[in-house]
Amino acid sequence: MFEKVLIANRGEIALRILRACREMGIETVAVHSKADAELKHVLLADESVCIGPAPSSESYLNMPAIIASAEVTNADAIHPGYGFLSENADFAERVEQSGFTFIGPRAETIRMMGDKVEAIKAMKAAGIPCVPGSDGPLSTDPDEIRATAERIGYPVIIKAAGGGGGRGMRVVRSADEVVDAVRLTKTEARQAFGNDMVYMEKFLETPRHIEIQVLSDKHGNAIHLGERDCSLQRRHQKVMEEAPAPGISEEQRNAIGAVCVEACKRIGYHGAGTFEFLYENGEFYFIEMNTRVQVEHPVTEMVTGVDIVREQIRIAAGLPLSYTQDDIKVRGHALECRINAENAKTFIPSPGKVREFHAPGGLGVRVESHLYDGYTVPPHYDSMIGKLITWGDDRQTAIARAKMALRELVIEGISTNIELHQDLLDDPVVNKGGMDIHYLEHKLGLA
Ligand code: ADP
Repeated sequence: MFEKVLIANRGEIALRILRACREMGIETVAVHSKADAELKHVLLADESVCIGPAPSSESYLNMPAIIASAEVTNADAIHPGYGFLSENADFAERVEQSGFTFIGPRAETIRMMGDKVEAIKAMKAAGIPCVPGSDGPLSTDPDEIRATAERIGYPVIIKAAGGGGGRGMRVVRSADEVVDAVRLTKTEARQAFGNDMVYMEKFLETPRHIEIQVLSDKHGNAIHLGERDCSLQRRHQKVMEEAPAPGISEEQRNAIGAVCVEACKRIGYHGAGTFEFLYENGEFYFIEMNTRVQVEHPVTEMVTGVDIVREQIRIAAGLPLSYTQDDIKVRGHALECRINAENAKTFIPSPGKVREFHAPGGLGVRVESHLYDGYTVPPHYDSMIGKLITWGDDRQTAIARAKMALRELVIEGISTNIELHQDLLDDPVVNKGGMDIHYLEHKLGLA
């Protein structure tokens, strides 16, 4: 096992990783920007290194500074968290070349999944159900483009192979728009991602977002931890997540889970990962694989009892999975509310000093947050300041506990989206469950 892990991230996930390391008896190194010296995990870590000024391009994305920090502190491994360099294949490669272990899959796996055309090709070959589409990159020939769209059937969506974060996509509803749409998406993709390869998929009108969590070790063992429903989204950003997904039977879970497990074995996947699917009319359609720990991983931890970050670290250290598929039972229901420092109505970010912070508690209540009284939320990074996760024997109980906990949660001095979550938990459609990915934007009058 590693003796010392460097945490190449900030905020709640850095604290989450620090806690996992502590529990495992591993020392920690926090790296932080000049704006982040007062972060909770920086104060708690065994060692800390300032890696650059506030802008993430000069700190959390600064590969030489991070690797140099691992060298001077004599760390064994680097945990990238989510966001920042977590899905950067070049970083994974440089970490390994510098003699450290990257806590995540192999660089070539990250690279393959970062190219959506390649990822879909590999997933199809591994038996994962995909959205009907162009089966590879689109040509620039207008007749071919129109023929492809005709075969798939309108509406279609043009997507950039190198896209991410909900960018580089365009929906097309008729033949007279399709050629222009491909040209425009290509131009945008070249500018945004430095890669103008685009492909086409059937546009699903009212899908749900359902994803499967997997763990796969370096000894050929892989398991799935069931699914999460992350359909409540605004601008492709998840707002509230839950596990299990309402209405998904154990048979469906086991069937799609088994396919994901087989795919992991086939591609030699190492670590924790998520297969993201759109789900419509009882069918799963793969959209992408995330090769890192996800923001919403705690809901899966709550219903399975598996510490996903601990397993990531164990896998990276070359240990076998701590569980077999038979050990994994989904019990009860868990919900996660992402708490953001932003106005609950306008969504305008609200950085600033937290005058008072009080976390809720009680049975089945978990708070993942780096806030404390007097902490100042810097304006330079993502506005998420924590996550409230509740668990109950059933969905109703998880919802009731979330409502109670949100009432107890006190964050003074900055604006938060607590009110939005309260509103969602009172919403009859949310209470019924199984809403599609457009529900939140419709509710907010944005779509
Ligand atoms: P990104 O990497 O940018 O997140 P994804 O491929 O995961 O891109 O897609 C992001 C979102 O775009 C999905 O969650 C869904 O809302 C929408 N989307 C993508 N593909 C389709 C599709 N074929 N039909 C309908 N919506 C889609």
